[in-house]
Amino acid sequence: MFLIRVRSCAMERRLDGRVAVVTGAARGIGAATARRLAADGAAVALLDVTDATEVAGAITAAGGRAAAIHCDVSSESGWAAAVGRCRSELGPVDILVGNAYAVDVRPAHETSLASWERQLAVNLTGAFLGVRTCLDDLRRRRSGAVVLTSSVHAMFGLPGRAAYASTKAGLTGLARQLATEYGPDLRVNSVLPGPVLTPAWDGIGPEDRDRTAEQTVLGRLGRPDEVAAAIAFLVGDDASFVTGASLVVDGGWSIYKTSS
Ligand code: NAD
Repeated sequence: MFLIRVRSCAMERRLDGRVAVVTGAARGIGAATARRLAADGAAVALLDVTDATEVAGAITAAGGRAAAIHCDVSSESGWAAAVGRCRSELGPVDILVGNAYAVDVRPAHETSLASWERQLAVNLTGAFLGVRTCLDDLRRRRSGAVVLTSSVHAMFGLPGRAAYASTKAGLTGLARQLATEYGPDLRVNSVLPGPVLTPAWDGIGPEDRDRTAEQTVLGRLGRPDEVAAAIAFLVGDDASFVTGASLVVDGGWSIYKTSS
């Protein structure tokens, strides 16, 4: 009995038969998401400006289907070429996770126009272009799912991140807007990670890490796979009645104040 149940679980994974595009998938939260969606049965296209063949290779070695595709998400023609490759190698797109980002930490008055525009182009325009490029695919089965990776910076200020925070707030608005525009054929949600230990934290020393960990209810930094799990929920059928939502994944960082 037990064996039969295990076998049927293995045979029916949540995302079997679906194709997912994940941007910024060479490392960090994007790589963890690609691995998780593949473990759940999806074929995954890993889009990044950094070579994602190692992550794709690990997925393939574990028995999954994956393709590492070079793509700068701020480029309209880059999106067209990448999605074309995804279609021919894996099939039409059922799931899109817009996760790639750029940040340039400096005071607003020292931020050049070029830097401001680059952050908007990668973080916000990149998500818009991704949804637009994949839209026909996503709607064709009337069950497409998009998740945009926003941030707790959509809701809270931290000096030095004017452009980044603006794009992250923009992404939650974009998710709600697209959810209303393309429902019921397509569900669109956003996740708002708090402090999650990825290579983005490489330049942040142990003292700052500890201080940030103390500012969460759970007393630690998050792991990329913990955000991936939230994304996997949102793109799957368990979230079939969830659209336009902003899901905070921050260990309680945003609800926790230590001063009275
Ligand atoms: P990361 O730096 O580890 O990975 C980001 C990936 O994006 C890299 O592989 C990079 O090559 C890729 N990328 C950068 N520019 C690109 C472009 N133009 N086109 C395609 N790919 C590009 O970052 P992470 O920490 O995993 O963050 C992933 C997402 O999570 C981001 O949207 C970030 O804003 C969000 N987030 C992260 C944290 C955190 O603490 N790590 C907190 C809140 C939100």
